[in-house]
Amino acid sequence: MLHARQVKYPFGRERPITIILLGPPGAGKGTQCDLLSNALRIPAISSGDLLRANIRAGTAIGKRANEIMKEGALVQNELICEMISDRVKAEDCSFGYILDGIPRTEAQAKFVESLSPKSNLGETISPVILRLELDDETILRRLSGRRICPMCSLSYNIETNPPKVEGLCDKDGLSLETREDDRQEVCRRRLDAYHRTIEAIIGFYQKRHRVEVINANRPAKELARDLIETIWATMQNRPCLV
Ligand code: AMP
Repeated sequence: MLHARQVKYPFGRERPITIILLGPPGAGKGTQCDLLSNALRIPAISSGDLLRANIRAGTAIGKRANEIMKEGALVQNELICEMISDRVKAEDCSFGYILDGIPRTEAQAKFVESLSPKSNLGETISPVILRLELDDETILRRLSGRRICPMCSLSYNIETNPPKVEGLCDKDGLSLETREDDRQEVCRRRLDAYHRTIEAIIGFYQKRHRVEVINANRPAKELARDLIETIWATMQNRPCLV
C-alpha cells in the first residue's frame, strides 16, 4: 500500500483533498475509505456510521432516522446535511476528507458541492469523484456475508475479508454482528434506492468534474492501490493509468 509519506503530493498539503466515493451498498466503500484514510491521512466520513452512532446515543437525529434505516429507505436530506456540516467543521477535516455514503441524492450533491474549498480566485477546487461498480448479484451475496464490530464499526466479510479469529473483531476482540438492514429484503430496497438516485448524482457531477469509474469486484488492497493512483491522476489532471 502506498503511504502518504512516500507520496509526492502534486499540490502540496496546502491544497485540501475532497474525495467522494460513490457506489452501491456492499461495494466495499467502508473498507476502501478506511484504507484511503490511513494512506492519505485524512478522515473518512460515513453518513451511515454517523447515523448509527446517533441512534446508539439516542439523539434527536438518531430517533428520526432509526425506523427509516430499518426499512432500507433514505433518511431526509436535511438531517444528513445537518450532520455532515457539523462533522466537516472539525479540526481533523482541515486537510480534506473522504465521503462514504454521501451524497445519496442530487440535493445532497449540491450541498456537498457548497462545502468544497475555494481557490484564491474563488473557484471551487474540484473534488475527486470515484464511482465503484459492482453487479447486483455480487452485492447481495457480499451483504449477506457482512459482519460489523459494534464498537469500532470495522467491517468484515466472512468470504472476502474475514477477521483473523472467526466471529471476533481484530481490533477490539468483540463479537461481530450482522447489521439489521443487511437482511435480504432490506438489501433489495437499499439497492433500489441506489439505482433510483445514482444517475442523477453522476449527471450532476459530470457537468462539473471528472468522474472515474472503477471495477470493485476484486481484492480490497488491489482496489485501494488503483483508487490511490486514480486520485493522483485526477489531482494532476492527467489520464488515469489503471
Ligand atoms: P450505509 O451504512 O451507507 O449503507 O447506510 C445505511 C442506511 O443509512 C441507508 O440505507 C440509509 O437508510 C441511511 N443513510 C446513510 N447515508 C445516507 C444518506 N446520505 N442519505 C440518506 N440516507 C442515508
